[in-house]
Amino acid sequence: MTASERLREIRDSIDAAARLARREPGDVQLIAVSKTRSVEEIEALVAAGQRHFGESRVQEAASKWPALRQRHPDVRLHCIGRLQSNKAAEAVELFDVVHSLDRESLLDALAAAAAKAQHFPSVYVQVNIGEEEQKGGCAIAEVGALVDAVRQSPLPLAGLMAIPPLGPEPAPYFALLAKIAAEHGVAGLSMGMSGDYRSAVMLGATAVRIGTALFEDSA
Ligand SMILES: *Cc1c(COP(=O)(O)O)cnc(C)c1O
Repeated sequence: MTASERLREIRDSIDAAARLARREPGDVQLIAVSKTRSVEEIEALVAAGQRHFGESRVQEAASKWPALRQRHPDVRLHCIGRLQSNKAAEAVELFDVVHSLDRESLLDALAAAAAKAQHFPSVYVQVNIGEEEQKGGCAIAEVGALVDAVRQSPLPLAGLMAIPPLGPEPAPYFALLAKIAAEHGVAGLSMGMSGDYRSAVMLGATAVRIGTALFEDSA
């Protein structure tokens, strides 16, 4: 399959899942996760009409994206990986959206860097939804405080983000993230990857982050 055929197939399957849940298909944003992918592979998806891309590492994004963005100024770049505070300045220059905000010290660093650069990325608060030891994301009990801190900051709040634990059925974790978001009056939900995006969409995802299924043919 070509990149354009894979994109069409996944977009159709997102739209079908949305309709099943009586949602508007247009309410689900598809983020193509382009970490480890070459500029040529990315260009093929841009040519097919894809406009939102996600990268995990600041260094990799900095090596690929400034040139790509110059060629495609309407593309939006999302940071989906763990972010160190000392990379905040580089991150606000590169990214339009950060999905991995998980602590107030990082919010402070991003807000200060954004004020300096006069570029204000919107942020998702990442939640450690499976309460896993070494997983990124804030504790469920800390979501309210971090959401309030973002609301008092100059960075727009995009929503909540989570990566469910590997192994168990992901749907209960998607449902839990949606419930926590509702409790805090948060509308956006960044959840769902190649293996589980249909159930994420049925449970309310407003952004899905898909890499493998977009860039590789399934066996
Ligand atoms: C790599 C990655 C994805 C995409 O995973 P696939 O299974 O390849 O679709 C989504 N979200 C995050 C945070 C990632 O690191």
